[in-house]
Amino acid sequence: MKYDVLFVHPQNYGNLQTYLKLPSLELCQISAVLNQNGYSNKLVDCFIDGRDIQELDNMLPIESPRIVLIYCSEYNHINALHTAYYLAQRYPNALIGILGMIVTFIPEYLLKRYPFIDFVLLGNADYVIKDILERDNKLSCCQDIKNVCYKCGGKIINNGMNYNYSLNDLPTSNRELYDLKKYHFHSPEAIVRSSRGCPSHCAFCNKTAYSPLMVESMKNFFSEIDILIKNGFNQFFFADDTFAFTYYRLLEFCDYYRNHNYSFRWTSNLRLNDITDELISKMKENGAYRVFIGIETLNHKSCELVDKTQNILDLESRIDILKKHKMEFHASLIVGNPGDTIEDLEHTSKFIRKIQPTLATFNTIKVYPGTPLYDNPDQYGILAEDMMWFENPDWNKRPMIYTKDLSPEQIAFYSRKMMVDMLI
Ligand code: SF4
Repeated sequence: MKYDVLFVHPQNYGNLQTYLKLPSLELCQISAVLNQNGYSNKLVDCFIDGRDIQELDNMLPIESPRIVLIYCSEYNHINALHTAYYLAQRYPNALIGILGMIVTFIPEYLLKRYPFIDFVLLGNADYVIKDILERDNKLSCCQDIKNVCYKCGGKIINNGMNYNYSLNDLPTSNRELYDLKKYHFHSPEAIVRSSRGCPSHCAFCNKTAYSPLMVESMKNFFSEIDILIKNGFNQFFFADDTFAFTYYRLLEFCDYYRNHNYSFRWTSNLRLNDITDELISKMKENGAYRVFIGIETLNHKSCELVDKTQNILDLESRIDILKKHKMEFHASLIVGNPGDTIEDLEHTSKFIRKIQPTLATFNTIKVYPGTPLYDNPDQYGILAEDMMWFENPDWNKRPMIYTKDLSPEQIAFYSRKMMVDMLI
């Protein structure tokens, strides 16, 4: 069969292969738009089984697709580029495109450096592939298509980002693009989201630059959940950057959940400042069992420096609310946050041990393209072995970003120590 579009989700780096196995919601949404418009598409998923594209060569269509679109993240960046190179040789007449949270902010660099890539999708690019196909794959006719950067006539053209549609205009995401049985086997908890973007503007986070805050109706959100329930999932991770960002939004969810007799369990991201007795009680009554909280640092000045709008002085009382309602919580911290010192890390370690979260992650500092930290490292005291750390798969073995207050060795040491301290 000849496909209009071939999607490829490359494998993660070797030591990250057992990390969360989550499909790309972006590819599922683009696939749904293509299906709605009569364009055939399929996915070759190298990610779920941890296979190289060459090993899955027999899964590739014999006839060339018109477009190949490759999902790229910090966990597979170099694998995605190798995949793009391999498929450009295999399908010389196809356009080769790439999408992801990092590549969105470095499209010109990628197009200059990697001649086998034809275009890079920028931010929410739900309709771009359909629009390119409608122009018969002629990038010279794509001047009016936003959210794409491409090569044309020896030049690189960046059309910038713009969103003039609502999430409710989109067809229900095609979750069956991925082999859901394989994902269910890996975990009965599926990822789903009801919004994109975040109302906060933390200087280390690229979510706000990637997408403005857009929400979809509960009806649409639950239609996607229904598909996943039919496929055997009974637990969900709401991957909204922050799910219950207003009490009103949570009430909308709870009304729909109760009125339609749902009983699934769910977990979501939640900002520290949004935790109130009322909100957590409501979440708990309506299926929530755990929240993921990006605390990042206990240093109030550091929070201010990186525009993390949370009142760290309230932290203990907010945690008490979670405990009162027996809400599990996953605390996420950044080791090497700008402004943090060894004393801050020692204090954090003791504090985390005291509050005993259900889970904790201690991520070493990274700087993401598209963020103030990446654009103005000096302002935040950021130092780097390599600002393009994501092009070196070793980034997950040793810190490549550090600060004027904390060396890479200290950051590596404390990320391990904090985990050990919490467990003993
Ligand atoms: S609250 Fe979380 S998702 Fe929102 S900008 Fe800050 S780090 Fe990013």
